[in-house]
Amino acid sequence: MKSILAFFCVLFSVSAWSNQLESIRVWPSPDNTRIVLDMGSAPAYDYFLLNDPHRLVVDLNQTQNRVSFAAIGNNSELITKIRDSKPPAAGSFRLVFELKAAVKPVVFPLAPAGDYGHRLVIDLPYEDQSRAPQQVVRQATPVGQKEIVVAIDPGHGGEDPGAIGPKKNREKHITLAISRRLAELINKEPGMRAVLTRTGDYFVNLNQRSEIARKAKADLLLSIHADSVANSGPRGASVWVLSSNRANREMAGWLEKQERQSELLGGVGEVISQADGNPYLTRTFLDLSMDRSRADSYAISEHILSAMGKVVRLHKSKPEHASLAVLKSPDIPSLLIEAGFISNPQEEQLLLTAAHQQKVAQAVFGGVKSYYRQNPPSGTMVASQSVSQAARQHTVRTGESLSLIAQRYGVSVSRLKGHNQLQSDVVKVGQILDIPSS
Ligand SMILES: [Zn+2]
Repeated sequence: MKSILAFFCVLFSVSAWSNQLESIRVWPSPDNTRIVLDMGSAPAYDYFLLNDPHRLVVDLNQTQNRVSFAAIGNNSELITKIRDSKPPAAGSFRLVFELKAAVKPVVFPLAPAGDYGHRLVIDLPYEDQSRAPQQVVRQATPVGQKEIVVAIDPGHGGEDPGAIGPKKNREKHITLAISRRLAELINKEPGMRAVLTRTGDYFVNLNQRSEIARKAKADLLLSIHADSVANSGPRGASVWVLSSNRANREMAGWLEKQERQSELLGGVGEVISQADGNPYLTRTFLDLSMDRSRADSYAISEHILSAMGKVVRLHKSKPEHASLAVLKSPDIPSLLIEAGFISNPQEEQLLLTAAHQQKVAQAVFGGVKSYYRQNPPSGTMVASQSVSQAARQHTVRTGESLSLIAQRYGVSVSRLKGHNQLQSDVVKVGQILDIPSS
């Protein structure tokens, strides 16, 4: 009798709680907060808003809670408290998010992908978009004083981890680390300024990434990634530019389909890139790439590859074309840099080290700088510098050593090396050296 009773109890609990709330993750970003509910199975849910004070109430039908509210990491400025409340029906679970301001939530379920199981995603966009730190208003600057603005896009973030290495390291952290180092180098360079499309571990959709670059009036957009393939062999860095091989209408149809998927995924990442080519690149740059020349992107990518080739292993020594991208006239030259293969065990390890991240950042910076020094956009500080710079170049002749040239211009060898990003003291006849001001 006792065992029969126990049996019935088990049956009852299974039918009453066919689902479980397993964890709650909160991802604040500069313009929204994303809440992700990890569920045991596909959620059946309802939600509504309350005022005075502002609250979002989410009912999870037939769900058992396994979350300890005290343990939720919540650093969103919007959500003041996450708690439960009396459910409307037995067996369901009511979640209450206490909010600082009114919101228009976007709530949608996500099917299992990558490391994640079933999820319910709640996006809370901030009303006041002026909070976004990247929306810098640039004042009119006198001709010859304009900065070259480089938008740096750390791939993935938040709910979208990007590729995951054999040791479970996530691409999103590596891309952000390299991007920050690159931004620091650019910001130290007179006449140049960096803008990051994300500054922390949160999800930014591809439209927002483009929008941030456009608002900052970026001259260049660099999207930083780490490659991944099923086979652990391939390694090395590569640079992608847009290709113009296919028809726009073909592209548009494809993108429409992919866009929804990527928005839902909370990132685009590798799920979609399994399709063909490099759709991440495609989507990020579609909007950006309508007016200006793709040739710029190609030229810049050659400078970057040549700088990178001196310090890190290259996967491909020529810029690669994303096969799916159809962008007739890009309005911001845009490149995607794969810093290496996170799927390769040695390279995964390497990509985690500060020294290697710095090497990559330094090389990308060197390439960008050398391109703009040769092709400064008119009206920029770099353009006015390069006029006076012309007289400060030296073409190496037979019999000249680095120390001889340094001596002649009254600068130290190390300064001359650093200025020209030289890895050794060896110079070749015909090589052009920039002479730093003494
Ligand atoms: Zn990626």
